[in-house]
Amino acid sequence: MEKHELWQAALAKLELSLSRPSFLTWFHGTGITDIQNGVATVNVPNGFAKEWLQNKYHKSILGALREVAGDIRDVSYIIGRSTEPGTGSFLKDPSPKKSRPHSIVLGGADDSSFKELSVDPDTNLNPRYTFETFIVGSFNELAHAAAQSVIKNLGAGYNPLFIYGGVGLGKTHLIQAIGNELLSRNRSLRVRYIPSEKYMGEIVDALRNQEMNKLKEKYRSVDLLIMDDIQFIARTEKMQEEFFHTFNALYEKNKQIIISSDRPPQAIATLEERLRSRFEGGMIADIGQPDFETRLLILKTKAAAKKISLPEDALAQIADGIKTNIRELEGALNRVIMASKLSAAPIGIDAVKKIVSGHQANAGRFVSPKKIIKAVAEFYDIEERDLLTRSRRRDVVKPRQIAMYFLREELKCSYPSIGEKFGGRDHTTAIHSCEKIANDLKIHPELEEEIRAIKDKFLSLP
Ligand code: ADP
Ligand code: MG
Repeated sequence: MEKHELWQAALAKLELSLSRPSFLTWFHGTGITDIQNGVATVNVPNGFAKEWLQNKYHKSILGALREVAGDIRDVSYIIGRSTEPGTGSFLKDPSPKKSRPHSIVLGGADDSSFKELSVDPDTNLNPRYTFETFIVGSFNELAHAAAQSVIKNLGAGYNPLFIYGGVGLGKTHLIQAIGNELLSRNRSLRVRYIPSEKYMGEIVDALRNQEMNKLKEKYRSVDLLIMDDIQFIARTEKMQEEFFHTFNALYEKNKQIIISSDRPPQAIATLEERLRSRFEGGMIADIGQPDFETRLLILKTKAAAKKISLPEDALAQIADGIKTNIRELEGALNRVIMASKLSAAPIGIDAVKKIVSGHQANAGRFVSPKKIIKAVAEFYDIEERDLLTRSRRRDVVKPRQIAMYFLREELKCSYPSIGEKFGGRDHTTAIHSCEKIANDLKIHPELEEEIRAIKDKFLSLP
């Protein structure tokens, strides 16, 4: 067999065993340059890819090659571009390939696929959060491994699994991916995902409507409970009490519990001792911060998923500028993509620099609810007081939802306090508004521009 065909056949096998983003990222631009004495020489586009293939995928590559050509004993890697029409040529080809069953879409422009990705009302899981699109690097390796272990030994291994890490580093993505993965293996598994704030809201409602028994039943009859952002629950004893009993009920039945938090249990000051010791009795894994190479990989994968090709140095510039938050990394990438769509010529490195530094400059500014409300009102040319009353006029409903969304996203205001501010509404209205805007953002990319413009506005207010 000719070396080019051999590599294509091996790639076809590798593609099956790797996640789509890993495959796209690592095998793009590779080829076989030489086979001598049973050693195949694989060329890779850069040093980082070389190291990664050597360290992480060597066994799989060798295995795949041997399946196709039994006389291959080893593989070596060199840096160099493939001259043959090789892999992943679609990375340079922006036209969508409809036939790809796995094509992934992350927070972007491909709205046709987005409509299917709505939250499942039974489980509360968002199908967009899967392992397919979750990139693993040294920063989250431990948490990822622990997640895999929970999938293998549901309820019988690490229980609870406690994942902690800073904002925007993939906690929600990871813990929901566990739920989605388990459900894809067993449709009848009872899974429930809930952010702790929403859980507290449900308790408040249940108390008011005398439906506590129903609520208890709802949470105690699951096989897997995923509680996101538990740090909020630590603010009130009543809620902790309720959660403690649910936790115990599940734990005693060997039902799996997964918890996330922005810090480890011992650092949540108001967490009750009995809950803390319960958490510490399971597996605690942290998600750290991705290093430069991993940030670059994340950007490449996300750009590839959107079928957008950006110059390597542009991506490197973003990865260099945004260090501590994957959500912001995505945000900056989206802005660069948007800018490059708007201009005819390929985007220059200076333009990227400007976008990234704009991102950072904004990050440090002081924002207040007052500024947000003022900016929203000005932007939509309505009165501030219309935002703050209960008026249902159509032209104020959306601006009000956007204002609520900003209070939540930018200032992390609690839902009850947001509801209170905007005409004495209750927390469910605030939650609904924030979710509505977050969902619209996924479906209508142009809303992102609007949001951006409003944000620039309140950031520039004195
Ligand atoms: P957290 O819950 O820790 O604040 P999220 O899970 O909401 O963070 O992640 C923020 C964004 O970054 C999401 O869009 C998520 O899909 C993306 N993201 C986070 N970690 C990864 C990862 N390892 N690979 C791919 N995307 C990621
Ligand atoms: Mg989260």
